[in-house]
Amino acid sequence: MTLSINDQNRLDAFWSYCVKNQYFNIGYPESADFDYTLLERFMRFSINNCGDWNEYCNYLLNSFEFEKEVMEYFADLFKIPFEESWGYVTNGGTESNMFGCYLGREIFPEGTLYYSKDTHYSVAKIVKLLRIKSQVVESLPNGEVNYDDLMAKIAKDNEKHPIIFANIGTTLRGAVDDIHLIQQRLKEAGVKREDYYLHADAALSGMILPFVDQPQGFTFADGIDSIGVSGHKMIGSPIPCGIVVAKKKNVDRISVEIDYISAHDKTISGSRNGHTPMMMWEAIKSRSFEDWQRRIERSLHMAQYAVERMQKAGIDAWRNKNSITVVFPCPSETVWKKHCLATSGDVAHLITTAHHWDSSQVDALIDDIIADSRSNAA
Ligand SMILES: *Cc1c(COP(=O)(O)O)cnc(C)c1O
Repeated sequence: MTLSINDQNRLDAFWSYCVKNQYFNIGYPESADFDYTLLERFMRFSINNCGDWNEYCNYLLNSFEFEKEVMEYFADLFKIPFEESWGYVTNGGTESNMFGCYLGREIFPEGTLYYSKDTHYSVAKIVKLLRIKSQVVESLPNGEVNYDDLMAKIAKDNEKHPIIFANIGTTLRGAVDDIHLIQQRLKEAGVKREDYYLHADAALSGMILPFVDQPQGFTFADGIDSIGVSGHKMIGSPIPCGIVVAKKKNVDRISVEIDYISAHDKTISGSRNGHTPMMMWEAIKSRSFEDWQRRIERSLHMAQYAVERMQKAGIDAWRNKNSITVVFPCPSETVWKKHCLATSGDVAHLITTAHHWDSSQVDALIDDIIADSRSNAA
């Protein structure tokens, strides 16, 4: 295949642009320090993981053996016996959440899904697509769900089978909903464990909390029914992807037999990316538990450094426990545009993902924030 000179030049220009902006992002939670060069040679193959990695598939070019090991790793990380779990490598945290909500709805077709105001915007889309009854719950100032409002809404709806969508690290403030408290409150309200479903959206923090000394509860051992994580966030990947882990007994209810590929299909897509499971596999195989601990610790330290530097300059910056998301008052448009910050209402955030090896980028942003706050005060 050949391109015209003009089109080749355009590709070259885009290449230079990508190299220049490779580590641009401080406002979005994407680690850019990955290296999958070992996998580049597989790009010539049409690898397709349609169906279930646990079964024989007539489509020979699949990477099921790698996907299976990825799922073993995450079952272990999220504290469920591998034999009792089932999950797969998705197209991202959104599909992972959709899968969790789908299971919840299949188990409780008339159940209402409760999610807080701080929940990722894609969940409103998921409940529309799945046509799940839903209720938006108030949040606490730090971004956690308002537990009183959650219980009040469940009571008001007289909902016998609530589907709880819990945030394990909200997008804007990195807040973790208290899984234990939610379950305790449900129990006090007389809702038995078998009468509700609990999904954990751990898009970013699912790859942080397993590696800290005092994690908030978020695993199957803490009582969840399913969990979603993004692969392109804390882990890092050139192609967006994610992981979902659920209880096998719940997944078996949605399995359908497909004679065309002579396998069972439980996933949301038909054809599935066969390259991203290999990336996730390489990411977990190339780092030990201690390597992840060190990587996460470095990010958490950088976040704390940013909080302290801003606070010293009189800026009201803060972060939630175990979070690499630093929240501060939204600076002037010139500042947030220059640094590509995500903003919402009167706050903005910076996120110290793994490619912030030193504080130069954090400092450049904070210098501008401080100068901006001084000129606004003057
Ligand atoms: C990023 C994010 C999502 C969506 O994940 P994608 O991988 O972008 O689809 C869902 N929930 C939270 C809390 C997120 O931060």
